Amino acid sequence: MKMKIEETIVLYPSPGMGHLVSMVELAKLFTRQGFKLIILIIPPSYHTSTASFITTVSASNPSITFHHLPKIDLPPDSVPSPHHEALQFELIRLHIPNLTRALHSITSHPSTSVRAFIADFFCSTSLDVAAHLNIHFYFFVTSGAAVLATFLYLTTLHESTTLSFRELGQTPLDIPGLPPLPAIDMPLPILDRDDPAYEGFLYFSHQLSKAKGIILNSFESLEPRALKSISDGLHVPNAPPIPVHCIGPLIMSEKRGVGGDGCLKWLDAQPEKSVVFLCFGSLGLFSAEQLREIALGLERSGHRFLWVVRSPPLTAEQSKLVSATPEPDLDALLPPGFVERTKERGLVMKSWAPQAAVLSHGSVGGFVTHCGWNSVLEAICGGVAMVAWPLYAEQRMNRVFLVEEMKLAIPIDGFDRGMVGAMEVERRVRQLMSDDGGLRERVLRAKHQAIAALSEGGSSNSVLVGLVKEWKKKVVPWWW
Ligand code: UDP
Repeated sequence: MKMKIEETIVLYPSPGMGHLVSMVELAKLFTRQGFKLIILIIPPSYHTSTASFITTVSASNPSITFHHLPKIDLPPDSVPSPHHEALQFELIRLHIPNLTRALHSITSHPSTSVRAFIADFFCSTSLDVAAHLNIHFYFFVTSGAAVLATFLYLTTLHESTTLSFRELGQTPLDIPGLPPLPAIDMPLPILDRDDPAYEGFLYFSHQLSKAKGIILNSFESLEPRALKSISDGLHVPNAPPIPVHCIGPLIMSEKRGVGGDGCLKWLDAQPEKSVVFLCFGSLGLFSAEQLREIALGLERSGHRFLWVVRSPPLTAEQSKLVSATPEPDLDALLPPGFVERTKERGLVMKSWAPQAAVLSHGSVGGFVTHCGWNSVLEAICGGVAMVAWPLYAEQRMNRVFLVEEMKLAIPIDGFDRGMVGAMEVERRVRQLMSDDGGLRERVLRAKHQAIAALSEGGSSNSVLVGLVKEWKKKVVPWWW
């Protein structure tokens, strides 16, 4: 009897919920095209929600298998950098032997034909492993085209000056296809040239142009200028333009999300577009003082709100460890009587809310976000306008693109000084919810463009069809 060959795609996300969420959506997209998906997981799962998310996905998607690589203990002081990204790069580098073994065992299975290996950008050291095994390597960039353009251009920026981005400060960087980007808004871990994290990102910038292609969670009409400059090859001199496949927006489709269904019931009872939602990604933490300022600002704004509150970081080291904080004690953290006084119009969720479901709920009229890319796409798909309050990773860049280029968010003052006052919170929430300046209209337009991109014949759908066709071509052995 002829053996059935399973056309397989292997995905390699770096640790962290944001990366995993979009990789899982990518996996689901390809399972619908008849592929078997294997997702390689690097332990530990930093956030408890990650483990339960994997369980939920496994239960409802039989064509997706999670393969857990062995655990490697990496003490936080093993990398001389204050940034957890440096640890991520090092952890992933240390996993090269584990990855090689896993890929080898997958590819040597007689019924498996691996058509593509897709890694996220922290995993750029895996490109050589895939090349060695003769597997087509793609990057999956879980941020937008503007961020991709910046990283493609990083090598050129690096060679054009001896100063670090921190030293350049407010000097605008002139990156093809993007609005002027103050150097200080580059991601925190690459502000200093001598940081190991900087080296990791520079290496990623080099590796980008070696990939077979880059899969991007964005869509043509959201970032036309940045995408055109990439396809014109303006970021990597003396090299052919790298093929970029925009297949987005891919957002979390687990409608119930993880936990906190009570808040959806609460939203059901609120008037349309009346609630401002505040949530700061899977890792965003605020000091107790900042939490109090937000509480006062929300209370004074008079608007309905749904707010995800986490405990402040316990130690200075915590930002590096990316560990979860304990359940917040709301009575101790928030101003006295706040929860009681606002109970008719506000709901505070402890630590986590099913964000994608919240943002697609008709009662939500505004979103105060840390500008993580998944959050941005979820807001666009829900047609929800934003206040941009960046915290970490590439979020300060996203803030510039959201406010200056896409015009889908309003800024908030003080984030760059580490404290946004209650008055500013109040002012921006009022501005967001009053919708002057056509913000909601623009977000609704972007929502409809997103729907069009994903529909049959739309830009993202056509790109997907093209990729699938390429991967389904009869494989000719390289020695043929
Ligand atoms: N998320 C959620 N509930 C929360 C916080 C985050 O469901 O309380 C989800 C959110 O919907 C998004 C992801 O976690 O899909 C966060 O990804 P993003 O890229 O926005 O930010 P990151 O966490 O990577 O900084």
